[in-house]
Amino acid sequence: CGIVGIVGTEPVAPQIVEALKRLEYRGYDSAGVATLQDGKLDRRRAEGKLRNLEAKLESAPLPGLIGIGHTRWATHGKPNETNAHPHATDKLAVVHNGIIENFRELKTGLESKGVRFQTETDTEVVAQLVTWEMHQGRGPIEAVAITLPRLRGAFALGFIFTGEDDLMIGARHGAPLAIGYGHGENYLGSDALALAPFTDEVAYLDDGDWAILTRRGVDIRDEDGQMVQRTRHKIATGS
Ligand code: GLU
Repeated sequence: CGIVGIVGTEPVAPQIVEALKRLEYRGYDSAGVATLQDGKLDRRRAEGKLRNLEAKLESAPLPGLIGIGHTRWATHGKPNETNAHPHATDKLAVVHNGIIENFRELKTGLESKGVRFQTETDTEVVAQLVTWEMHQGRGPIEAVAITLPRLRGAFALGFIFTGEDDLMIGARHGAPLAIGYGHGENYLGSDALALAPFTDEVAYLDDGDWAILTRRGVDIRDEDGQMVQRTRHKIATGS
């Protein structure tokens, strides 16, 4: 339902929760955040309101200067903590808005290769497909590039990767996704409104676009993998 990502310079978990609050009006049944600290992924997820997630973060804070967060409106799999995003493997964490329509056939294919799924969601197939490609020796960017054309449906995605403290990938296919440009920080959001506390400069991805974010900049590619420029807009900042 709602996606926020920050490649930042301060601990991002509290910032991500603040940004997710700005998307609460859309409705959701659970929420979660994943960050990287010293290259290792960790996450907190909770059923219900963002305050439940905040309570978990208070008792077990999540350090890290890069992270992704999500508010979920379940379409596949019960609205519980196991099915809450971010979904994670040994290689990555991913958040997803929308539906992966062909997830059953993709899941069956992976299961026949021995992949074991942990959740009932359509989203986990994305996590497992990219992870499979990385286990074949591909880097994160190549693994995502190979996976995106296999996915059917309307979706927006945000990824971070184990051992990659300066890399986030976002992809848009039928569900909105915006890039926010900061100073030494860059952002991903399903709605530019979520990014207003951090920056006044955003670009909306076109359908089929995917973006590679680091602290230095953002490369946007179209569905053929060509580098493209998307118009940057000024938005109102603050709360
Ligand atoms: N289809 C995904 C799920 O059920 C994402 C739903 C959403 O957009 O929040 O987990």
